[in-house]
Amino acid sequence: MPGVYQLSIDKIVEEAKQVYDLGIPAIILFGIPTDKDADATGAWHDHGIVQRAATAVKTALPDLIVIVDTCLCEYTQHGHCGYLETGDLTGRVLNDPTLELLIKTAVAQANAGADIIAPSGMMDGFVQAIRKGLDAKGFEEIPILSYAAKYASAYYGPFRDAADSAPQFGDRRTYQMDPANTREALREIELDIAEGADMLMVKPALAYMDIIWQVKQASNLPVAAYNVSGEYSMVKAAALKAGSMKNGLSWKPSPASNGLGQI
Ligand SMILES: [Zn+2]
Repeated sequence: MPGVYQLSIDKIVEEAKQVYDLGIPAIILFGIPTDKDADATGAWHDHGIVQRAATAVKTALPDLIVIVDTCLCEYTQHGHCGYLETGDLTGRVLNDPTLELLIKTAVAQANAGADIIAPSGMMDGFVQAIRKGLDAKGFEEIPILSYAAKYASAYYGPFRDAADSAPQFGDRRTYQMDPANTREALREIELDIAEGADMLMVKPALAYMDIIWQVKQASNLPVAAYNVSGEYSMVKAAALKAGSMKNGLSWKPSPASNGLGQI
C-alpha cells in the first residue's frame, strides 16, 4: 500500500510524535510478530510486539491515545482470527478457546498501557468475555471499541498483504458478515451493546454508510467508521489519476461514462 510501512518500535515512536504534533489525538496499533504459531502467542505474550509498542509510545507521549487491535489473525500461522484445532484444516474456528486467548491478549495490552481495546475478530460473546476479563484484572476503566459490524469484503485485501495475515485456507465468512445483510449488523450492534461495548465500529466505511446511519439511529454510543486498506488504496489511486489529468497525461473519462469517469 502506498505510504504504508511496517515499523520497528523506535520508528513507531518517531511516527507517533509526528502524528501527535499534527494534532491527531489517537493511533491504533497492529502487530507483525517475528514468529507465528497455532496459539497466537505473539498476541497475548507480555513481550508481544503490540504490547512493547504500546509501552514505548505511551512512555514517550502519555497524552496520545493508543488503541490496540485485539485479534489473533496476525499471530496465527493460518491467518484466521481464532483458534483452530491442530490439524483441522476445515477452517472451523473454535469460539470459546478463542475467547480465552482474546482475554489474555486484552489484559496484556492493558497492562502494557493501551488506552482502548479494539477487538476485531467478531467471535460470539467476545465483548462480554473481554469486558469480564479486563474487570477481573482491575481494568474497569479501559473502554472497548467493538468492531460490531464487520462485513466480509475484498477491501481488506491490501491489509492482509501488508500484515502478512491472509488466511492460508478457507475464508473468514463464518465470522464476518454477509455483505448484503443489513439486519445482521443491527443484531450484532444490539448484542455488543448488551455485552458492554463502549464504542461501535462499522467496517468497511465508504461502502456501508447506510449501516453507519442505522447504527447511529439504534444507539447513542460513539460510532467509528473504519476506512479499510482497500478504500485507502482506492483514494490513493484516484489521487494519482487526478494528478495525471492535471498534468495533461493520457487518462480521460470515457465518452460512455456518466461524466464522473470510470474507476
Ligand atoms: Zn482478525
